[in-house]
Amino acid sequence: MKRKIVLYTSPLLRKKSVKVARVDAATKKLVRDMVDTMRTDFGVGLSAPQIGIFKRVITYEYINPSGPEPLGRRPSGSLETFPNIPLRALINPEIVHFSKTTEVGEEGCLSFPNLYGDVRRSKKIKVKALDIEGKHIEFEAKGLEARVIQHEVDHLDGILFVDRLGKDKRLYTYK
Ligand code: ZN
Repeated sequence: MKRKIVLYTSPLLRKKSVKVARVDAATKKLVRDMVDTMRTDFGVGLSAPQIGIFKRVITYEYINPSGPEPLGRRPSGSLETFPNIPLRALINPEIVHFSKTTEVGEEGCLSFPNLYGDVRRSKKIKVKALDIEGKHIEFEAKGLEARVIQHEVDHLDGILFVDRLGKDKRLYTYK
């Protein structure tokens, strides 16, 4: 079921989320609702607090049936392309390693409709989490996947991408 997105005007986005004690039917229902919401609103990623559930759960997916396609136009006018990322739900995700190498990339957020900004993030990360069956998983992510995970895990700590903009704090929009 698609849920309502908490928008940036709400102080709720600053709340810290708590760990999921047990991956049970309620967790699975939460993940289903998050996936429905993310897909309906064409988001690449979503965190539970964005639908008003303050639990440490994130989902993400980037699939384009026509193959990698521009996600957005950079302020410079150049296009960014990304490989597909299959659907993933992470419960209690922890980023246990951030690469020293960083890159600046465009980010948007379902809680900030039609607003984008350039954010510097680690290029590669190592993640520990529980999967939807409650199994411990550990993996490395890079590029867009690493960026999405960093953005969504920030949400679990009440941190928003606008907190990580460059000095000029510039947000932009697309018509
Ligand atoms: Zn977001």
